[in-house]
Amino acid sequence: MKNIYGLTIEEMENYFLEHNSKKFHALQLFLWLYEKRVESFDEMTNIKKELLEQISSDYSIERLKIVDVQEDVDVCKYLFELHDGEHIEAVLMRHDYGNSICVSSQVGCNMGCKFCESGRRKKVRNLETYEMVLQILMIEKLLGERISHVVVMGIGEPFDNYDNLIKFFQIINHPKGLAIGARHITVSTCGLVPKILEFSDFPLQINLAVSLHAPNNEIRNKIMPINKVYPIEQVMNALNVYIKKTNRRLTFEYILLNDINDTDECALELAKLVKNMNCYINLIPYNETNNLDFKRTNTVQIMRFYDILKKNNVSVTIRREFGGNISAACGQLRSKKEEL
Ligand code: SF4
Repeated sequence: MKNIYGLTIEEMENYFLEHNSKKFHALQLFLWLYEKRVESFDEMTNIKKELLEQISSDYSIERLKIVDVQEDVDVCKYLFELHDGEHIEAVLMRHDYGNSICVSSQVGCNMGCKFCESGRRKKVRNLETYEMVLQILMIEKLLGERISHVVVMGIGEPFDNYDNLIKFFQIINHPKGLAIGARHITVSTCGLVPKILEFSDFPLQINLAVSLHAPNNEIRNKIMPINKVYPIEQVMNALNVYIKKTNRRLTFEYILLNDINDTDECALELAKLVKNMNCYINLIPYNETNNLDFKRTNTVQIMRFYDILKKNNVSVTIRREFGGNISAACGQLRSKKEEL
């Protein structure tokens, strides 16, 4: 049975029209789900009983299970159990500007980035839209606070689950849904060129982040297998189309890996690559894990890399680190409970 949290308001309207009922019930239903936050159809007192019976025979209103919560300073990691017994994680980060959550989009991931713990497990399946929506809704309930920012950077390649992702954006951005502003939502991709081009026509002003992690094909091929399918030139061409169409600034994510992509030459090459692009680079100090051999770049070299980019007029930041102590940092999420 499908889950009600996976429906956009337009889909609900169509549902009601198909059942010889009125469109406005969709708005009522949205208000019950996302404003009043009821957890059963019976509580929706202003919708006719027969209609509720119809809906409940077509849709489940079941939530996910949160089976583990781990906390660290300003960060909290939640392990969710899905209806088929699979697991995914989401991470809450507290910033001075609000609460941000990093959402997963797949169980496992097929992209195989060599430095990524989350990608060690092959993709088992895409997350359904409702499974993404409920990560936010349930964490908000547990916290008793609103989530103001969402990044889709957890387990999975979001653009490999494009249709469900788009519906997720429509639901969480809708003013009667979770009402999270599009500019407060960011999606990250490792560079799926056809989807970057498709996304450039998506009307919501959602931010795009691209996991670049190397300034040339030679290095990128070694650490990101997807580069053999979509090499850097193709990714950059697609991103230039995206910037031209949307007029939005994009973010490049760059994980600094000791002696792999963190040399002065790499910094210079990177500066040249993004020259004149409407973008900024987010440098991410690597979080070492027991399972992977990569080492973290030392702080002196991180600063040198940063300075070289700055001197070459590149907008650059170093990401504030969250959650290293509870394996909640970038690239450390897992989709298997027993591995925790
Ligand atoms: S970095 Fe992202 S795309 Fe790459 S393997 Fe990890 S989860 Fe997948």
